Amino acid sequence: MFDKKTIKDADVRGKRVLVRVDFNVPLSDGLVTDDTRVRAALPTLRYLVDHGARVIVMSHLGRPKGAPDPQFSLRPVRRVLQRLLGRNVVFVDDIVGPEAHEAVDRMVDGEIIMLENVRFDPGEKANDPEFAKALASLGDIYVNDAFGAAHRAHASTEGVAHVLPAYAGLLLAREVETLTAMLAHPERPFVAILGGSKVSDKFGVIDRLLDCVDTLIIGGGMCFTLLVAKGIGVGNSLVEQEWVEPAKAMLAKATEKGVGLMLPVDFVIAEAIEPDVETRIVAREEIPAGMMGLDIGPTTVELFKGEITSARTIFWNGPMGVFEMAPFENGTKQVALAVSRNNRAVSVVGGGDSVAALKKFDLEERVTFVSTGGGASMKLLEGSELPGIAALQDA
Ligand code: ADP
Ligand code: MG
Repeated sequence: MFDKKTIKDADVRGKRVLVRVDFNVPLSDGLVTDDTRVRAALPTLRYLVDHGARVIVMSHLGRPKGAPDPQFSLRPVRRVLQRLLGRNVVFVDDIVGPEAHEAVDRMVDGEIIMLENVRFDPGEKANDPEFAKALASLGDIYVNDAFGAAHRAHASTEGVAHVLPAYAGLLLAREVETLTAMLAHPERPFVAILGGSKVSDKFGVIDRLLDCVDTLIIGGGMCFTLLVAKGIGVGNSLVEQEWVEPAKAMLAKATEKGVGLMLPVDFVIAEAIEPDVETRIVAREEIPAGMMGLDIGPTTVELFKGEITSARTIFWNGPMGVFEMAPFENGTKQVALAVSRNNRAVSVVGGGDSVAALKKFDLEERVTFVSTGGGASMKLLEGSELPGIAALQDA
């Protein structure tokens, strides 16, 4: 299943362990507004500390332009990590310079230090071998626990793994195990629910899911390209014209594989994406010119709920509508509720906005697994190799 060495295969006691985590958290006025990603890294960090490692934590945050930029400093995350771990965390205002080396030299076993944002150095995104070597010189072994960044070949996610003995962290291993097991041997029926804005973003994932699932539910903005492929007019709804032909192939593959492909039968429509806009509910063939489908309608909700309720494995990615605005949130909310109420199913939710929707409706704790990687989980599901994982030592 997961064929890479993890930290449990490493002898970490007394070693300087350079750990790449994904602390790319949302900040507002210098405060961390969502600590999910910090919590997700705790099992690995605790394991390393408990086993007497000297832990050097590194991450990116936001999109600085390869130079120090105070608004993307990782400093505010230190306090959060310190509180969650219940131990002191030293913050170093440096990445690979003398200050970082001095701090590492002063470390004792079981101590944690945190480096500044690796993207403050242009070598990070360029995957510059010199920068990777400089990072590597801080540690004896490397651990990648940044599943959310594993689809990027950057110096701290990939380059450094070629210089030091490289192991997977517990979060990264669990993400890969959960997602691959879901595709490889799901309890049936296996129902996947796909939504979100664009079919082009997720074509690879849908294609792979068609090989595994019993039922594929498609809502959100992407369903309109499929409806057009079926010859149904969708008014002013979101359509990717150049994806109509691939969408026809997708429909044909579903038929060929015997997958039940369910598309919405009614919509909440409006003229504009605005919070106080006037809305109407219409059957899917009746979206007038100039109007957009912005959420699935009530008949569709019942249809989708029925499938979700009888599933034994559920994968959900992508909101059913523009859930950020009250008039268009109901479809996503009802799907989230149906997924969370099915206690007999293994339920896996992935995707940045889908997870945000789960949080909005306070259902995050009610599903089996919430993937911390948006882009990374999509890449993994579509069968692409993730460079940050490929570079780790084989088990
Ligand atoms: P995820 O991050 O979960 O993978 P996506 O990024 O693909 O999801 O899509 C999320 C976005 O899709 C949301 O911002 C939502 O407003 C938008 N969306 C959903 N349904 C529609 C629709 N019918 N028309 C336009 N945008 C939509
Ligand atoms: Mg998104």
